[in-house]
Amino acid sequence: MNYCLMCQGRINEYFDFAWVLSLQQPRKSFLCKNCHNNFMILINHPNCPGCGRRMNKKELCVDCKKWEKIYDDLLGNTALYEYNEAMKTYFERFKFMGDYYYFNIFNEELKTVIQKKYSKGWLYVPIPLSFQSFQIRMFNQVEALFSGLKLTDLLVVKSCEKIQQSKLNRRERLTMSQPFILNTHSGVKVEATNIVLLDDIYTTGRTLYHAAIIMKNAGAREIKSITLAR
Ligand SMILES: [Zn+2]
Ligand SMILES: [Zn+2]
Repeated sequence: MNYCLMCQGRINEYFDFAWVLSLQQPRKSFLCKNCHNNFMILINHPNCPGCGRRMNKKELCVDCKKWEKIYDDLLGNTALYEYNEAMKTYFERFKFMGDYYYFNIFNEELKTVIQKKYSKGWLYVPIPLSFQSFQIRMFNQVEALFSGLKLTDLLVVKSCEKIQQSKLNRRERLTMSQPFILNTHSGVKVEATNIVLLDDIYTTGRTLYHAAIIMKNAGAREIKSITLAR
């Protein structure tokens, strides 16, 4: 018997038609149907082609119009879910209470989406954690969410970076200077490669665009991103 990670209730396995027709091995569920319904799937709704934010129709949001003026190419972020109350609770438990096991809830889904959208010829580059955050949490939540994929560590947080993003307000976050440098020890040539940046939450886009600049300067050809939430 499985128990739901969010509410600890029993999970009655449910098999929909899609599953029956796909003839796949049943996947282990980590959420009951009620809790699953509390998460808002974005990719089936009209959304902003720049960041994945939910919109009334497919058009660039205000934030992305700003990014478009600063950068030539938008990241075309794919976000799986809306950052709503359920997602907030999820991240409180996973990130701030540091419960590693919670990566399981979305891991399969993230892997499926990324492998469908960016299969051959793309490098998967996770947003790194500062040394200080790592010491608190003891794991990188982005690497956990995307575990099972071949990840390439091309980014390092500058050692002077002591600020935790979650402690900054929106304005401070937007003006924060470049926190990353290129990982010269990776042994991977970035020139002319296609990169998918991986992060947990797309908030202002600042972190991902910082990362994108490093990749662009290192000679990457195309740079996209994917996040669990927006
Ligand atoms: Zn539940
Ligand atoms: Zn947008």
